[in-house]
Amino acid sequence: MIKKARKYIFVVGGVLSGVGKGITTSSIAKILQSRGFKVTCAKIDPYINVDAGTMNPTEHGEVFVLDDGYETDQDMGNYERFLDVTLPSINYITTGRVYQSVIDKERALKYKGKCVEVVPHIPLEVIERLEKATRKAGAEITVVEVGGTVGEYQNILFLEAARMMKINNPGDVAFVMVGFLPVPSKLGEMKTKPTQYAVRTLNSAGIQPDIIVARSGYPLDKKRKEKLSTFCNVRTEDIISAPDLDSIYDIPVNFIRDKLDQRLLSTLDLKSRKTNLQDWRTFGRKVKAKKRPVNIAIVGKYFDSGDFVLSDAYISVIEALKYSAYAQNREPVLTWLNSKNFEDDKKVLDTLKEYDGILVPGGFGSSGVEGKMKVIKYARENKIPYLGLCYGMQLAVLEFARNVVGLRSASTREIDTKAKHLVIDVMADQEEALDGDNYGGTMRLGAYPCVLKRGSIAHQAYDRNRVKERHRHRYEVNEEYVERLEEAGLIFSGKSPDGSLMEIMELPLSEHPFFVGTQFHPEFLAHPLNPHPLFTAFIKAAKKRGSK
Ligand code: GLN
Repeated sequence: MIKKARKYIFVVGGVLSGVGKGITTSSIAKILQSRGFKVTCAKIDPYINVDAGTMNPTEHGEVFVLDDGYETDQDMGNYERFLDVTLPSINYITTGRVYQSVIDKERALKYKGKCVEVVPHIPLEVIERLEKATRKAGAEITVVEVGGTVGEYQNILFLEAARMMKINNPGDVAFVMVGFLPVPSKLGEMKTKPTQYAVRTLNSAGIQPDIIVARSGYPLDKKRKEKLSTFCNVRTEDIISAPDLDSIYDIPVNFIRDKLDQRLLSTLDLKSRKTNLQDWRTFGRKVKAKKRPVNIAIVGKYFDSGDFVLSDAYISVIEALKYSAYAQNREPVLTWLNSKNFEDDKKVLDTLKEYDGILVPGGFGSSGVEGKMKVIKYARENKIPYLGLCYGMQLAVLEFARNVVGLRSASTREIDTKAKHLVIDVMADQEEALDGDNYGGTMRLGAYPCVLKRGSIAHQAYDRNRVKERHRHRYEVNEEYVERLEEAGLIFSGKSPDGSLMEIMELPLSEHPFFVGTQFHPEFLAHPLNPHPLFTAFIKAAKKRGSK
């Protein structure tokens, strides 16, 4: 049997961070997938953290959770959304994880008495992981995003791994450099020099880019293409213009227009196959079509951190809302409200009336909680469609316990260990983890099954009896209170198969047009071509309110 060639495309960044390396990686994968290739994506993050789970969202943006429970960078979410696939944890690599496994192997005598050294053993471990990810996905092409910017000390060992792969299999490895071309306002002219320097820096790591993706506010002209070609030693047809676009979903289409897919296939010596990007183009048209708005308020707390980009902390929630709105021909208008503003001003609460729907996303700790509870009470009493995700579900249960069941001191152990009614309590196995300061990767993480109650809003939305959704939490609805909550009218419409864990709560349609909370994070499974049914049901209810 002829061994199938496995091809690798490394996407590296030059000049500065934040120019869209993640979206470039996702888009490259998308255009190759649209040509019928089996593609997967991997992300390398150069930090020491073993996973992204212990980082504050204001540091790092959203922690994206995979089916198998690994806590990763938001780029993994972009890959899953663009490719409409599920990725395993082997596709996510951090310096911490690589070192941890090399050290574990050394302790287990796996290196057979050899001296274990940073080079080659660290790059070899990286290569092993990338090959495993490729095999596991059965991928013909693996697109690997190398985090950070070339020239940084931190990612040099990963570039070394890529260089070693290229030397061993020159025809199977391609390099894409995402460079940035600034247009200084005083000059009014696009400058190529920073990208030239970035390529030179990459050269000093022994790597020559095959393709340059030229990110800028504007399209690249012929003169600059030629300049980059001369100074970076890359053919003009391998320099791809990537101007800012209104919609990130147009990027794959733009890449195809510039023949990036053909250039990559020819670099990797792969035979061209016919492109089919029909569904994606249709989705792109829906995004751009003029449509009536649906106004959603997102009430959270990670809103007050200097120059931190808010949308980063909730990217999957934002995307999930958008996909469901587009699918229903509505323009999603999302407004961010800081829950702290609702803590003591009643008049502020009344501004919530303007919205068609209110969403409280996941969160941790006590800050902003009382404000969120007031917002939830307002949504319940004023019949505004409400969707609560994880903490947003736990707090909705607490609000109901306090104000409907009458357990005034109902609380969660997360913020008040001494409360009389711990309606939200820590899970037994979690207690051990917390006692031992064992915080990393120990929450209830990843996909778990959930059985739906017939006839409920959730059951109708999913149109299935059983679903699997991704979790990330330490606390749970305390089983001891379930009966009292149910007697007062709360419905637990989703439970773990053994019935012990409350996964979805809702109010009956006779009481409220849409009041749903999920212990899991449905946003992680929302894809552009496959909007999430619960978000869709929420948007439908919001649309109804908006048209009144
Ligand atoms: N803080 C809550 C818990 O740990 C909710 C977590 C979340 O919203 N992701 O259970």
